[in-house]
Amino acid sequence: MTTTRKCPICRKPRVAEHTPFCSTRCRDRDLMQWLEDGYALPGPAAPTDEFEQD
Ligand SMILES: [Zn+2]
Repeated sequence: MTTTRKCPICRKPRVAEHTPFCSTRCRDRDLMQWLEDGYALPGPAAPTDEFEQD
């Protein structure tokens, strides 16, 4: 079973030089998405209670 690997960003056939992407542009885009996702995550609310000990 041979599956043609495609660029996960634009679905074009990937280029060995930029595997698993088709170009540096898509590689950078994937990286940016990853970073943006990380920063966009709301995350758990900061336990501010620690600073309000009574
Ligand atoms: Zn691509």
